[in-house]
Amino acid sequence: MSEPILEVRNLTVHFYTYAGIVKAIEDVSFDVYKGETFALVGETGCGKSVTSRALTQLIESPGRIVRGSVIYHSDKGSVDLLKLNEEEIREIRGSEIAYIFQDPHSSLDPLYTVGYQIAEGMEVHGRVKSIKEGIQKAVDILRSVLIPDPESRVKNYPHELSGGMKQRVVIGTGIANSPKILIADEPTTALDVTVQAQILELIDDLRKKYNATVILITHNLGVVAETADRVAVMYAGKIAEIGSVEQIFKNPLHPYTKGLLKAVPNPMTKVERLDAIPGTVPNLITPPGGCRFHPRCPFAMEICKKKVPELKEIEDGHFVACHLY
Ligand code: SF4
Repeated sequence: MSEPILEVRNLTVHFYTYAGIVKAIEDVSFDVYKGETFALVGETGCGKSVTSRALTQLIESPGRIVRGSVIYHSDKGSVDLLKLNEEEIREIRGSEIAYIFQDPHSSLDPLYTVGYQIAEGMEVHGRVKSIKEGIQKAVDILRSVLIPDPESRVKNYPHELSGGMKQRVVIGTGIANSPKILIADEPTTALDVTVQAQILELIDDLRKKYNATVILITHNLGVVAETADRVAVMYAGKIAEIGSVEQIFKNPLHPYTKGLLKAVPNPMTKVERLDAIPGTVPNLITPPGGCRFHPRCPFAMEICKKKVPELKEIEDGHFVACHLY
């Protein structure tokens, strides 16, 4: 396995709301390796998007990063991204670590042409000397994200493009500065199925072309099986299990992962019947003590209510947080 590019340790984010403190993610730890596609997977509200945003301090009020570290190993050395000031982190965000967000409609400004928007991101990070030079480069970027006739499309406003084309432009803005890490947060959710497959293929091609690392946030296990190398399964703000795609799909260990795989058509095995996991996702203002999955877990024991299970390595590269192991 290659070297880690990111080492995330005990990342914890709370949201201070009128209703109480929402413990959105607690002590989340994982490594991301250079050149891989690492998927963060789980149901809506499990904390995967909060985790991805916290990596570059993109947490807005009333949220706060309470503790943890995110060590980024770049060509210039290693740095804890959570210790950087606003100016320093802005320098890295968008250039070395870029995001592709879920909804292309809200990621693009309707008042500016797509060429201008790509050029602006390059100018801010000093990749081009002027917007004019950036717009010339934007033509090549639109070509690399497979937009037909990029010379004329560069002058288009977002409303003149289809949903799939807009998401290609958003990917273009993401890769414009040749980032080392591309964080794609549900990049295909707003798109129809055929366009989804094209966008995922495009992200994977760009990862190889630019020698980048991709962190893919998704609730879709089919997408994970198709595109990821390794997977972290999240439940209620905690990591339940980490492993290679093969380990997770063929030999899931955590009862939640097993339940998730039974609840969706598993692309690696033939399942006759789909079973939903009984119960609901807990309220994160008052999460269950011990293992947060214990009220829904068919294997829950006395210890599960009291003691938080630690993430343990059970086989090479396969980690699980469960008292059964
Ligand atoms: Fe179930 Fe206990 Fe394992 Fe949690 S720690 S998943 S409750 S067996």
